Amino acid sequence: MQLRFVGCGDALGSGGRYNTCFHVTGEGVNFLIDCGASWLPALKRQGVVRDAIDLILITHFHGDHFAGLPFLLLDAQFSRRTRPLVIAGPEGIETRLTQVMEALFQNSSRTKQRFELSVVALKPGQTRTFGAVNVTPYPVVHGESGGPFLGYRLEAEGRVIAYSADTEWTETLIPLGRDADLFIAEAYYYDKIVKNHLSLKTLEAHLDEIRAKRLVLTHMSDDMLGRLDTLAYTAASDGMVVEL
Ligand SMILES: [Zn+2]
Ligand SMILES: [Zn+2]
Repeated sequence: MQLRFVGCGDALGSGGRYNTCFHVTGEGVNFLIDCGASWLPALKRQGVVRDAIDLILITHFHGDHFAGLPFLLLDAQFSRRTRPLVIAGPEGIETRLTQVMEALFQNSSRTKQRFELSVVALKPGQTRTFGAVNVTPYPVVHGESGGPFLGYRLEAEGRVIAYSADTEWTETLIPLGRDADLFIAEAYYYDKIVKNHLSLKTLEAHLDEIRAKRLVLTHMSDDMLGRLDTLAYTAASDGMVVEL
């Protein structure tokens, strides 16, 4: 199994990075974690085959994490996709999806697709199975609008991938990431404490409790990107692939 950081940027295009989108592939799995607005050019630039993706997990309803969906569905329509597709995310996802589709491509939410599209709302603490992927959502803390906010702990092919999503520090990150083979954590700032986002120093203070086998930092601001050469941790970059 492998995870590709198709995009690991923030909402502001810091460092010229694409919005958040990770692509996980293995013998029996092919799914996306988040689908930010710049998803489609990022995937095409990296030569990723879109037709084989059968699940998309959305963490929250900010444009840099879910506004790629209208482009994805338009692309699926024009590429004459037939493979069924599941889009799963926080409660309200069905309404949010319709709204963003109508805002970007009027009437697109009414287009009859050739493939079966299922939109599934996930609840914190309730594990759901999609094909060979077990998905456990955890509540995270990321402000007032654009939620509910979910981080994910995913099990597939004997491996655990955990993703904090966008969040300030919250104790749920400990069970979310504990002993994970790969823990992808937001590190928006180096040591500045702000609401709704995580700093590396705060995360660092809890790494002993999380005990992830591998940590990769993502969703970094210019503050963090300017320090990449000095960090003791692996930082994501667009196109980077992690073997699991
Ligand atoms: Zn974000
Ligand atoms: Zn966000």
